[in-house]
This record gives sequence, C-alpha cells and structure tokens, in this order.
Amino acid sequence: MLFLKKINELPGPMADFIRFAGRLADEKKINAYVVGGFVRDLFLGIPDYDIDLVVEGDGIAFAEELSSKLSLHVVTHKRFGTATLSGLEGFKVDIATSRKEIYEKPAALPTVSKGLIQDDLFRRDFTINAMAIAINSPCFGKLMDFYGGQDDLKKGLIRALHPLSFIDDPTRILRAVRFEQRFDFKIEKQALVWIKEAVHRRMLHIVQKHRLRDELILIFKEKAPIKPLKRLYALCGLTYIAEGLRFQRHWPNYFHEAAKKIAWYREHFLHKRHIEPYVIYLALFFYPLSLKAAKKAMLDFAFHKGVSSRVVSLKENTLKIKKELSKKNVVPSTVYRLLEPLSYEVILLFEILARHKAISGHIEDFLFIYNGQRLHIKGEDLSRLGLKPGPYFKKVLDDILVAKIDGKVRDREEELGLARKLIHLK
Ligand code: ATP
Repeated sequence: MLFLKKINELPGPMADFIRFAGRLADEKKINAYVVGGFVRDLFLGIPDYDIDLVVEGDGIAFAEELSSKLSLHVVTHKRFGTATLSGLEGFKVDIATSRKEIYEKPAALPTVSKGLIQDDLFRRDFTINAMAIAINSPCFGKLMDFYGGQDDLKKGLIRALHPLSFIDDPTRILRAVRFEQRFDFKIEKQALVWIKEAVHRRMLHIVQKHRLRDELILIFKEKAPIKPLKRLYALCGLTYIAEGLRFQRHWPNYFHEAAKKIAWYREHFLHKRHIEPYVIYLALFFYPLSLKAAKKAMLDFAFHKGVSSRVVSLKENTLKIKKELSKKNVVPSTVYRLLEPLSYEVILLFEILARHKAISGHIEDFLFIYNGQRLHIKGEDLSRLGLKPGPYFKKVLDDILVAKIDGKVRDREEELGLARKLIHLK
C-alpha cells in the first residue's frame, strides 16, 4: 500500500502519533482518518506540519483523551466540534468530528450535522483536498478517495466537487487560484465555468468580508504571491476588495523587490526582530488606494490592528520620509527620529518604494547601526545626578541617545557630562 509506506516515511514522532491515534480509535470503536491537505501533501511528497484528523464520533472527546494520554495541550472549539493539540515535536494536530454540511443560502455559513467520512469529504473544496487515509489498525494506510482526488493530483487539476461549490462558498475561488499557482496545476475546465458563474453573480461581493480577508492573507503567505494575485485579477478583478482597485503594472516588480528584501533581512537581522513578510505584500497591495479608502478597507475587512496600522502607516509616511531622506546632508539622528517609531515591515517598504540609493543607504545604516545603539548610562545615573523620575527623565535619555547616534558623545563619561548639562538646563 502506497500510503502505508508514505506514513512510515514521515518523521518518527509524526508516524508514531498517527499510529497511536489509530489504536485509540480502535479501543473506542470509532473510525479515524487523516484528511485534507495533509493527505494531498503526503502524496506530493511535500512536508506538512499540520495533521488534520477526522473521527466518525465525538472529535472533542477523542482529542481530550489523546491529550491526556500523551500529556499534550488541547484547545477545544465546542461550537465547531473541533480541537487542536499542541506540544508535539514540530507539528500540530487538528481534530474534528466527521460532518455533513448543507448550504441553505449562498455564501452563508452552512447547517452542520454529524456525518460519515464520505460526507465530510464531500463538503471540502477540491478533489485533491477531499481524500482521507484510514488509521484504525485493521485498515491502516487505506486511501479513501471517493471523488477522484488521486487522479486529479496526477493530472495536476483543481476540480470542484459539485456545480454550486463556488456559490455556496465563494472564498473557494481564492483557494482554487492559490493551489493552482502553488502547485503549478490548472483549474479544471468545468470548475472554471462554475467560478465564472459565481463571479458573474457577484458572489465575492456578498461573502462575509472576514472570510475573504483570511483567504487573501493566505495568498500573501504563499512563496510567490504575485502569481495567484495576477490570476485572481484575471478571473474576477479586485473590486470586491475595494472599489476601483486594479492590478498595478508595477506590482510584479515591487513584489520581486520585496522578496529580495525579505531574504536580505532574514540573512542579517532574523535574530534581532521578527518581521511578517505577508504584511509587506499586503501593504503593497493596498498602497494604490487613497488613505481614506485604505483605512476603510482595513475596517471593512476587520484586519488585525497591528496589520492595519502598518498598512496605514505606509500610506501616511512614505512621501514625508522620501522627502526628508532624499535631502542632502541628512544627519544620523534625523534618520533615527524618522524611522524609529515605525515598524520594520514599513521601513523595508520605504526602501522598496523609494528606489533611491541615498535612501537605501540611510535605511541600512538605521538597521545596522543606529537602531542597535545603547547608552552606557541608565535611569539610576540620572537619579544620582538629582533628577526625579518623570517625563523629563525619558527625554534626557532620548536626547543623549540621539547625541550618541550623531557621534557627539562616545563613552560613559561623555554621556554623564551631557546628562549634567541637560539637567542643569531644565
Ligand atoms: P495549506 O497547505 O495551504 O495549509 P490546506 O489544504 O491544509 O492547505 P486548510 O485551509 O488548512 O488548507 O484547510 C484544511 C482542509 O479543510 C482543506 O484541505 C480542505 O479539505 C478543507 N477546507 C478548507 N477550507 C475550505 C473551504 N472553504 N471549503 C471547503 N473545504 C475547505
């Protein structure tokens, strides 16, 4: 059996976990399966760090029992009948009750009831994501492929399971494009017709915006997000995201530069501060909008505050920063004061958007030198000099830091000297 071999070839802890879960399912007399993207990636030989498990029984109770037997951390989502196990070596596990879904209204959430594995697979997006592998001992490794997923994987096709798939859930359009471009597959002919029909019926304008947002984020988390973005635009435009938003001629170039900059950042600064590359792409995506429209989109789609503030900050600061940093004789403290309040994603974006040698130089100096500067003296030194803690405390320290960045003070003694002067002037 091909899949038995593939499971045996998984990293030891993963294969052991799957076998353990299978034996527990035997004990409980329920059927258990690994499903979805995990099976797809197993077939394609792509490492996957998330296992999706489905049981024909109570998924939450099963997860809780697994967690207590293996001393794992479990988070349950009672409303959805799902649970997540963490604490395993390098992977996590989502467990769900096998279910049947009926869409009573287009683009709304379905009515859910318990179902068999065949029902659970039928509610999925594409045939390649609608396969399961049994893990109970007597049938361990048996592929359950009711809808031709294995064949489509071989042919490289993204095929929907039924004509209403994209009407029921229009976010599947974004998913189809994402998988097509990720694996260099093709959306199957009939699925393409169904997609066009859903687009024609403006289903993407109707679907809940936060669901669209989540799929959009997944596109920007792909390795080369410009590919699905281009394809998405060709298939259905972008007006369901924001009125008037079009594919920009210079996006491919910016996205390419962004990928290079992200790789560069990782090489030099990964240990220093974590950045989220998808936010860089997302901010580039929303950059063509006016500030007002960008703010509206952030609100409409309920983007996380940290994300929307970075998208908006790029819009608000780019022109000002470009103007200031392209002046002649910019001193280090000016660069520091301009860039220090901003996130690293936004700073890297300035460099990408500015395409200006001097600006790049300032930004790199900021990242390599200025932003790593620390003072020798501390708050307690100021107290010893007689300054009472308060707002002026921080200002004195900041002013000394700025002087240090400009090379005006070099060691502890000079820092103390400047502190005395500033306190005296107060
Ligand atoms: P990735 O490699 O991007 O994580 P994945 O296939 O694991 O891909 P998830 O979003 O984690 O994707 O979803 C897990 C599984 O749930 C999918 O493989 C698919 O079977 C099913 N699924 C997810 N979203 C939908 C949807 N909108 N409609 C139907 N089925 C879905």
